[in-house]
Amino acid sequence: MTVRVRFAPSPTGRLHVGNIRTALINWLFAREQGGQFVLRIDDTDLERSTKEFEQGIETDLAWLGMIWDEKYSQSARFPLYHQAMERLKAAGRLYPCYETGEELDRRRKVQLTRGQPPIYDRAALKLTDAERAALEAEGRRPHWRFRLEGKRVTWEDLARGHCEVDTASMSDPVLIREDGAFLYTLPSVVDDIDMAISHVIRGEDHVTNTGAQIEIFEALGAKAPRFAHTTLLVGADGEGLSKRLGSLSILQLRDEGYEPLAVVSHLARIGTSDPLEPGESIEALASAFAFDKMARHPGRYDPADLARLNGATLHAMPYETAQPRLAALGADLGESFWLAVRANLGLFADAAAWATVVTGSAEPLIAEEDRPVVAAALDLLPAMLDGDSWGAWTSAVKEKTGAKGRGLFMPLRRALTGRDHGPEMAPLLPLIGRDKAARRLAGETA
Ligand code: GLU
Repeated sequence: MTVRVRFAPSPTGRLHVGNIRTALINWLFAREQGGQFVLRIDDTDLERSTKEFEQGIETDLAWLGMIWDEKYSQSARFPLYHQAMERLKAAGRLYPCYETGEELDRRRKVQLTRGQPPIYDRAALKLTDAERAALEAEGRRPHWRFRLEGKRVTWEDLARGHCEVDTASMSDPVLIREDGAFLYTLPSVVDDIDMAISHVIRGEDHVTNTGAQIEIFEALGAKAPRFAHTTLLVGADGEGLSKRLGSLSILQLRDEGYEPLAVVSHLARIGTSDPLEPGESIEALASAFAFDKMARHPGRYDPADLARLNGATLHAMPYETAQPRLAALGADLGESFWLAVRANLGLFADAAAWATVVTGSAEPLIAEEDRPVVAAALDLLPAMLDGDSWGAWTSAVKEKTGAKGRGLFMPLRRALTGRDHGPEMAPLLPLIGRDKAARRLAGETA
């Protein structure tokens, strides 16, 4: 069987961490299985869907490295949905209903006060032709419901194991609104059939839908695909994702300077038995992907983990990968510079500040009590600086002044870089060079 999966976002907003995780799991599974990943734009809601959001979805997926094999727009496929609608009508599975929203609300309230489940009572199925004609004459337009068989629908879910939904406990779903618009349910099934989708992978908020959709697959004479319903993300506190995190867009993460590899590594590994560490590449994450590794409890999305993974991604980044980006920042000072600073970066752009420390100017920080150590260091500064200079030099300063540990290294770091924290000094010192080092130790901004 060829594995074919689809990611079906509605272009009514930018992708956020929740829905991009669904996209990612689809993508990883497809790659791991040697299958195909279909991007299906769920734009049947013509009023709320926009081309700009569709473009944004493509930009976000491409930035993260999730390239699709095929792309479709549902808005171009209405004839297929109409055909399916006619088939279901002919089979007696789709029936017109005329209740208004208020009427349905009222009935639900009555059911609830009687202690009954608020399920649609199928009153419309009992309408005679004359009654329907009278309602239409009043100007009412029908919406269309799918008649469920009212049975136990079961499937073996790749993420949740054995699943059962009792469709007798559900209202017949509305598939077509009274203005003729298709809701998501039917086009999704029609396309899953037409596009030969083998696995539907989506969030567990769709489990109930799946019960009804499996009945629709069967009513259209098709075999339902396999399903995987993944747990939704929760915040670090274990509660549902906060509004802020839930709507945190990929665009924002990109603007904040996060690495795409850190974002996908984080989302691929949250709530799995793999360690929360960066993968070497998105392809490497795919090779390691397995539904078996996914925990049944929700994954905790903690922004601090992403920050850590981002740093770890940079710490492992080879110079060849970093070089064009350093050049774009005006901070390409060669491989030795990159190797010296990368271990200290939280965000790539921080490299620019270190390039300034090395080639631009820095204002030395020299506290009163550190003056003797700094003055001795200036006296003892070797004529030539290389990677080994730091060790010999600081030993000499230690011997002369008695300063050691933090009391030795901190004054030198602060004088040479104008900062309290930063990359290891040993490789940094020769990059700063003797001239600047001497001037800074003398208290000059250089
Ligand atoms: N557009 C739907 C959603 O984002 C697709 C759900 C599905 O994958 O079937 O919820």
